[in-house]
Amino acid sequence: MTDNKTLPAEVPTLYIVPTPIGNLGDITQRALEVLSNVDMIAAEDTRHTGKLLSHFNIQTKTFALHDHNEQQKAQVLVEKLLQGASIALVSDAGTPLISDPGYHLVSQCRHAGVKVVPLPGACAVITALSASGLPSDSFSFEGFLPPKSKGRKDKFLEIAKVERTCIFYESPHRITDSLQDMLDILGADRQVVLARELTKTFETIQSLPLGELIEWVNSDDNQQRGEMVLLVHGHRSSEADTLPDEAIRTLGIIVKELPLKKAAALTAEIYNLKKNALYKWGLDNLD
Ligand code: SAM
Repeated sequence: MTDNKTLPAEVPTLYIVPTPIGNLGDITQRALEVLSNVDMIAAEDTRHTGKLLSHFNIQTKTFALHDHNEQQKAQVLVEKLLQGASIALVSDAGTPLISDPGYHLVSQCRHAGVKVVPLPGACAVITALSASGLPSDSFSFEGFLPPKSKGRKDKFLEIAKVERTCIFYESPHRITDSLQDMLDILGADRQVVLARELTKTFETIQSLPLGELIEWVNSDDNQQRGEMVLLVHGHRSSEADTLPDEAIRTLGIIVKELPLKKAAALTAEIYNLKKNALYKWGLDNLD
């Protein structure tokens, strides 16, 4: 069942309009209709958006709304909306607000009771995740990695035990340093996907254990260019990671008198745990 209702809206509306992340064919029919019919378009960079609009022969006037003026300009736009204007918000590429301006405008609109209508469309994080082969049932988008090594390592420490897929935006001139920092914290075996130049001519999606991915990126300068998304497989927790301290202490005492297999079975019975998890813990941690 579809509902083709787009415009005109009965009430002043702010439309959130995604634009392509590379391939111009990825703009939706509805996005083109909205951009053609609103009173004005609030754009991150009016020159950049001007090129997109002229490609699609759209004449709507634009208004700059970027990180540096957003808080102040949002107020002006909310007033225009309250006076009856309809406005579309776009960023340079992809979905506005996703590592892009728009948050202040949307929150001020909602605060003022202005209707906000989101259009679905291109977004690098979702595009990358959909083809990554990493678990997609639960994931966290972490935005851009911090620019300095210390900040990045803190971030990797924060996600080291997170079991969801974690996704980052990264700039090409920091990719090799960032992967090295990731290696220091998450280790060479963590599965990582580098999704580069999505929807463009040199689109590349490579999935490898981190140690091998670093070798692959370092051996080919092309893999250090363009726009990129990094996706990190979540921590795979084993049952042995979640054993209660008390059970581990008990196992340590019993194992002094009995073989590990027997000690693990007895401890499992006392604490109602799986004997295999205790046995594995013993193999990994006891002499
Ligand atoms: N709002 C955008 C979105 O919906 O994805 C993101 C804007 S953010 C300023 C730009 C970053 O998104 C790039 O540095 C890169 O990490 C990622 N990105 C954007 N386009 C991409 C593409 N075609 N391929 C890979 N990553 C892309």
